[in-house]
Amino acid sequence: MHQNFIGGEWVQGARTSRNINPSDTRDVIGEYAQADAAQARQAIAAAHAAQAAWGVSTPQQRFDVLDAAGSEILARKAELGDLLAREEGKTLPEAIGEVVRAGNIFKFFAGEALRAAGDLLASVRPGVGVEVTREPVGVVGLITPWNFPIAIPAWKIAPALAHGNTVVFKPADLVPGSAWALADILSRSGLPAGVFNLVMGRGSEVGAVLLDDTRVNAISFTGSVPTGQRVAAACVARMAKFQLEMGGKNPFVVLDDADLNVAVGAAVNSGFFSTGQRCTASSRVIVTEGIHDRFVAAMAEKMKTLKVDDARKAGTDIGPVVDEKQLAQNLEYVGIGKNEGARLVAGGEAIPTNVDGQPGFFMAPALFSETTPGMRINTEEIFGPVVSVQRAKNYDEALHLANDTPFGLASGIATTSLKHATHFKRHAQAGMVMVNLPTAGVDYHVPFGGRKGSSYGPREQGRYAAEFFTTVKTAYTQA
Ligand code: NAD
Repeated sequence: MHQNFIGGEWVQGARTSRNINPSDTRDVIGEYAQADAAQARQAIAAAHAAQAAWGVSTPQQRFDVLDAAGSEILARKAELGDLLAREEGKTLPEAIGEVVRAGNIFKFFAGEALRAAGDLLASVRPGVGVEVTREPVGVVGLITPWNFPIAIPAWKIAPALAHGNTVVFKPADLVPGSAWALADILSRSGLPAGVFNLVMGRGSEVGAVLLDDTRVNAISFTGSVPTGQRVAAACVARMAKFQLEMGGKNPFVVLDDADLNVAVGAAVNSGFFSTGQRCTASSRVIVTEGIHDRFVAAMAEKMKTLKVDDARKAGTDIGPVVDEKQLAQNLEYVGIGKNEGARLVAGGEAIPTNVDGQPGFFMAPALFSETTPGMRINTEEIFGPVVSVQRAKNYDEALHLANDTPFGLASGIATTSLKHATHFKRHAQAGMVMVNLPTAGVDYHVPFGGRKGSSYGPREQGRYAAEFFTTVKTAYTQA
């Protein structure tokens, strides 16, 4: 039994839940504790009690903890990657890559603890000095989705601790294994009791307690738009600080002058890898007239080579969908696309078992062409391996279509034109812009996040993480 971690102790939950392998639903990965509201409040109390001391801990102390955690994650990348692929369904190389990213994030924020700096200015008044410093926000509640079971927790937990906050971490229900492994590593990293707490449990119960308890000073949330709206409303009601990273409907523009191989490679990667379950996935490909037919044909050809199979099997390109509910949603959208009059070029059907007869949530990636901007498959986040192609007359229309969405996380373009690449970088309405690269796949040391309906509040990751996880103080001294 994998327990919750509260106040430096492993504790039984109120209930348990089973972690199931989406590549083989007969495979039970383990039993995991589920906290109730009372246990969530105990975790908050523990974090609250530990905050004052951790808030004034030395940078060396924070560095040592985060560096030790990062080293252990990196040293165990194969084993943790295997667990991640088994519970979430991304392929083993992708899962190991995610674990390495998590390890590197802990190492980066170990350094950030040492580099924390402020400003020293002369006052406009004679004889007065001004210091601008950053202090911890206090107790932070971290609520994460299932699609990056170790990297997203890492990019919230590491900066929170580096900047002197104490943490109550609530992972997504579908992926408790990676969350528990991370908590296990942190439990042995030298952190004082109560500084880091894990409460696995339902969003509507445990998550809701985090939102409403006045001892939680800030909430960092990644997940869907409807839940994000709930987080925002609850935080505003009690004036808590919050940060939201939510959905996307990311465009990838392909211009006539693009290198076809680069464009197809990036579109296939962005649309279908990790089973399309990335917030930065590009689900809308906008292609100009001159290259449109060649692009769709090349994309369909490339899709024939993609192997859908067990996430942990060598040679698998695309693992299963994460669970039955998400698979049903993907298939429903394929039906919606057909009914809307889009042309299904390839894929789109469920594959009940893999070649070895394992029952899993497999699905052939789907490509639609001849789609129009108002179609639901072009406006709503599907969060699966479903890509739709839209035609554009020219660059200007392509840019307009790319920006014509309430979302704004990532935006990409394939072009060999410096002029269009430069213009697109400036005018794409997104937090992250990629030229001749997949929209998914980002560095760990630079800001991550979006604009418009995709995100709210300061950026995550890199040096910019300090904006959310600290509060600024301005002090005046008369010498
Ligand atoms: P979700 O909104 O269903 O759940 C996210 C988290 O919120 C989970 O831990 C869940 O238990 C919790 N939660 C649910 N109800 C809650 C409530 N009432 N109060 C408090 N917490 C609650 O999202 P999901 O299905 O796990 O993840 C998929 C979504 O995440 C997609 O929309 C995807 O685009 C988004 N996502 C965004 C980013 C980004 O950085 N923008 C990254 C990854 C995933």
